[in-house]
Amino acid sequence: MTYRFFTAKGSFYRGNLHTHSTRSDGVLSPKEVCRRYQAEGYDFISLTDHFVGLFDYPITDTADCRNENFTTIIGAELHTGTMENGHLWHLVAVGLPLDFTPPDAPNFRPVMGSESAASIAQRARDAGAYVSIAHPHWSGMTGADARTITAAHAVEIYNHGCVVDNDRGEGFVTLERLLNEGRHLNLTATDDAHFNTPDHFGGWVMVKATENTPEALLAALIAGEYYCSTGPQITNIEVSDDSVRIECTSAATIMIQGKGTSMVTQHGESMTAVNLPRERLADSPWLRITVIDRAGKRAWSNPVWI
Ligand SMILES: [Zn+2]
Ligand SMILES: [Zn+2]
Repeated sequence: MTYRFFTAKGSFYRGNLHTHSTRSDGVLSPKEVCRRYQAEGYDFISLTDHFVGLFDYPITDTADCRNENFTTIIGAELHTGTMENGHLWHLVAVGLPLDFTPPDAPNFRPVMGSESAASIAQRARDAGAYVSIAHPHWSGMTGADARTITAAHAVEIYNHGCVVDNDRGEGFVTLERLLNEGRHLNLTATDDAHFNTPDHFGGWVMVKATENTPEALLAALIAGEYYCSTGPQITNIEVSDDSVRIECTSAATIMIQGKGTSMVTQHGESMTAVNLPRERLADSPWLRITVIDRAGKRAWSNPVWI
């Protein structure tokens, strides 16, 4: 039996799912944020300003930033409820309605007795949004915290702003903990750009969709038809009984990770296609693929469930 990925019709579109503007604490207008992303070769973004009272609960309507070659998905970064460390939750919701009901979140300090993060994540998902757990490392999230967000589609495993500004941009520990508990979650790489530091154009998603429209992109995100990158491209993944074939842009290292310590790694010169044995991953119910180029930039597949 062979499982093939990226076989759905369409093309890959490059997008950033986590961005701020002057509608919250970013320094550029929504229009200028969109202009810069398009100028840098992106096909779409979601502007996800902080959905708190301090900024009048913004869900920015970016429809007028769309053009023939660039689109936007309406979104927001949601905040409500307290994590185990006493700090406020951060969740990213892409594909929200403009009239999404605010929680009681006047600022970045949690309010006793306010709506839980699990509840607002579920409300966002029920409203049609693609929901991700934002920057777990920077947030200081525990396993118990992460486990409560049962409505999440994904964990943010690369947050470029956090990499640049606090060196806590990684989310794989949180993601894999949940995968090992049987939770089917995908991953996102984002910028979390505010444009007040070099926090932009560092991490993105490549979404395979039938067309570059908010509806088609959102459906593909929810279906998991995408991969994440800081540079390389993954063009094909085929999982058969005893091996995994990976096709990509020129790579120095290609690896597969699975449950616990299971992994297989191949280092090489300018690799564009490899067949890696599944033997060492035989006991893992999931596997995921990492491609690293000569410059150390990475691309990550979503988990493949066997
Ligand atoms: Zn945040
Ligand atoms: Zn953010």
